[in-house]
Amino acid sequence: MLEVSRLSRHYGSATALNGLDFRLETGRVMAVLGPSGCGKSTLLKLISGLEDPDAGEVRINGQLITSPSYSLPPEKRPINMVFQDYALWPHMKVRKIVGYGLANMNRQARQCRVDDLLALMQLTPYADRLPSELSGGQQQRVAIARALATDPEVLLFDEPLSNLDVQLRMTMRFELADLFQRLNKTVLYVTHDPLEACALADELLILRNGHLEQTGTTQSLFANPATTWVAGLAGYDSQLPARLHAPLDSNYWQVQVGDQRLVSRVGNPMNPEPGKAVQLMLHSDAIRLCTQGENERTDTNYMNGTVKQCLFEGHQWRLRLDLGGAELAMLSEQAQQPGAKLQVAFSHQALLAFD
Ligand code: ADP
Repeated sequence: MLEVSRLSRHYGSATALNGLDFRLETGRVMAVLGPSGCGKSTLLKLISGLEDPDAGEVRINGQLITSPSYSLPPEKRPINMVFQDYALWPHMKVRKIVGYGLANMNRQARQCRVDDLLALMQLTPYADRLPSELSGGQQQRVAIARALATDPEVLLFDEPLSNLDVQLRMTMRFELADLFQRLNKTVLYVTHDPLEACALADELLILRNGHLEQTGTTQSLFANPATTWVAGLAGYDSQLPARLHAPLDSNYWQVQVGDQRLVSRVGNPMNPEPGKAVQLMLHSDAIRLCTQGENERTDTNYMNGTVKQCLFEGHQWRLRLDLGGAELAMLSEQAQQPGAKLQVAFSHQALLAFD
């Protein structure tokens, strides 16, 4: 188990990490998600030993790894890291790079271990190549094989796919998901891509300005973001100012948006009361266009709007819909003319109210 307690690091007057607390059970994959500058790399540097903390500590299976008064040398930590830029030694062949950390094994055992790792990462045909003779995806697989060689307790990944083109990133996403499932290793995976985080991780740790904004399983966090900021990160791309009107039950309230009455989930711990100003968050995937003459459902919100803008996205169109004082972002299978009047629908459950 990886335990991070009250971990802090400052650079001059800048706070990179501020009292971070979390635990990651053995065999779980956690994605660390947040925008540039939120402290993701600092967290990895403190755990791996590239930097030391100002306060707090890190433990692995109970063993102290780092604190302000103690630092286990990086090479003795049961940790390996995979870097964004692969960090492969250009003059070494793949086989040598993968076996680099196994110097204390006898020659035959080392060869066996390297052969297994090359096979695991589908690199056997490339064993005698230099990094410059490999594609970006193959180089990243070499870096992962090297990180796995010493069988570390914890694997750290620092945005490993961000240097790859979009298509290869998708392929590698599947490969990594499969690998994580087979390895059963404790993995801390840094990314700024929420979809990559969802695809690969069991749990999410959301960082903002060096502090923990929210943590939880990927699915629970995407369904129940705790703040408008997390909701925005999770792809809830419409924000509507509204007022609470009257409760339907403990989870749902009628809300007033301009001159339209909707029903919303009350998303975060707040004291709901009639008249209270709230922000409603909604995901574009949750909105659909109504068909003419459609029977209205009782669990669904309906709104009327005017198309403001329509952008082609390859296999669909992205619309900005003017609601008169607010705006909705949504997707459409057909192109829509700016100025066209549309009726859209989304479930009560899809709408989340925050104070
Ligand atoms: P992320 O990886 O999420 O982009 P970082 O951990 O690199 O964020 O940085 C967090 C904050 O700490 C940023 O404001 C950054 O400018 C600052 N920071 C990081 N490393 C240093 C450093 N060596 N010197 C000064 N400031 C730093």
